[in-house]
Amino acid sequence: MELDDPRWDGVQQALGSGGELPNILKKIAAMRSWNDAAWPPGKNPWDYLMQAVYDFGNVHSSAYAVVPHIVRFAEKRSVSDQTHAFLFVLNIVFRTLEDAVSIPLRFMDEFQTSIEKLGPLAEQCLPSRELLEGERKIAVATALLAGRDLVVGRVAYGLALEQLTLPCTACGNDIEFEFDDGRWLAKGDDETGSVTASPVPSAAFEEMARLSAAAQLPNEYEHVRELESVVECPSCKVATNFLALSAADVDKRCPLARIEGWEAR
Ligand SMILES: [Zn+2]
Repeated sequence: MELDDPRWDGVQQALGSGGELPNILKKIAAMRSWNDAAWPPGKNPWDYLMQAVYDFGNVHSSAYAVVPHIVRFAEKRSVSDQTHAFLFVLNIVFRTLEDAVSIPLRFMDEFQTSIEKLGPLAEQCLPSRELLEGERKIAVATALLAGRDLVVGRVAYGLALEQLTLPCTACGNDIEFEFDDGRWLAKGDDETGSVTASPVPSAAFEEMARLSAAAQLPNEYEHVRELESVVECPSCKVATNFLALSAADVDKRCPLARIEGWEAR
């Protein structure tokens, strides 16, 4: 949707009329840097945008109209600004809460196309010394997302945030994971649920390993293949394949999982 389209008035955002959003987007396009540190708190147009489209994890329909513009702006930006855009988009795709949203039909094509465009940008950013380690992890997750592999993209995003929480496929309770002492653990009350390694890596994890090596993060992901394994839920004690957990998480929370061609397995 073009910035001068009158239909912006009708899109849903948390802070007021959707008609405000084109002005905010124009301000973002005009900013010299997207780095938060350069702005006094509350004055950065990004703060407005985040709260408007994505307040406390609730994604509003306007998010899907905004993303194509952010991606278009990002194409001409510094590596550091591009990473800012990656994080914004990943939040919208992966970080929705329980009341899962769907993408309005009229925004779907442009939204999908813009995510695919992010892939090459993310790959270009991977080796950059300009980026901190966490930012390179965000770029890895973005490249995997643009490859339409939602499950591994979701896992990579969780690792980047050091927050991997997936719902048990049997009881639905969240299982929190942590990497400790060389192995993955499902954190429970007794902290005993462990992840049992399986020997066969999938093509998707091979791709993740390749991107991670390009991002100079091989150590971070040395144990990533162990994710492809069996975990015992700390709540109900049912053993489930880790990728089944990931797929359940993506199905439940990721709007793209409901679109044909985006693989949630
Ligand atoms: Zn369970």
